[in-house]
Amino acid sequence: MARKLDLIIVVDVEATCWQGTVPPGQENEIIEIGICPLDVASGQVLDKDRILVRPERSQVSKFCTELTTLTQEQVDRGITFGEACTLLKKKYKTSDRIWASYGDYDRNQFQRQCQSRHITYPFGPRHINVKSLLAIMYALPKEVGMSEALNLLQLPLIGTHHRGTDDAFNIACILSKLILGYRN
Ligand code: AMP
Ligand code: MG
Repeated sequence: MARKLDLIIVVDVEATCWQGTVPPGQENEIIEIGICPLDVASGQVLDKDRILVRPERSQVSKFCTELTTLTQEQVDRGITFGEACTLLKKKYKTSDRIWASYGDYDRNQFQRQCQSRHITYPFGPRHINVKSLLAIMYALPKEVGMSEALNLLQLPLIGTHHRGTDDAFNIACILSKLILGYRN
């Protein structure tokens, strides 16, 4: 399959979580996949999108709802993780394109969940860690969180932090500014 370098698919996932340890019998599972493609030629951030995913081995806790605003009722209407991976490949050609996320968490969570469910990983091998890239380009002494990155680049935090769609959009804005800043 030819490599597609037209878009970078920026992804941010939200997962079931708890304050403290994971309750017995449950595990962290992806419940929202925020997606925001970035046009490489223009640096333009395109429309954000979301896939809601129904957890199969965990429940959305009160703590998780407070963090992400997502409720059990909302994610109950989502699709399965396997269906979400198929949709990513079909709609965004994620196995042929470069994808990006902020830090290692999203990539690790996808890898873990695909492995444990015997589901084909929906992405190719080419991933951009925007958190590391920013720290390198700005010669920061350490990597910084998304909010701090936006401040550093004088970009507004648009929407609600810890919502997959809004996080994906804001991360795409960070990556866009890094790319356009280098070219200008
Ligand atoms: P984020 O992209 O920063 O919104 O975080 C992704 C996921 O990491 C969340 O959906 C949670 O599952 C987990 N997470 C983030 N922050 C916390 C936290 N303070 N406590 C527990 N889990 C968290
Ligand atoms: Mg997020």
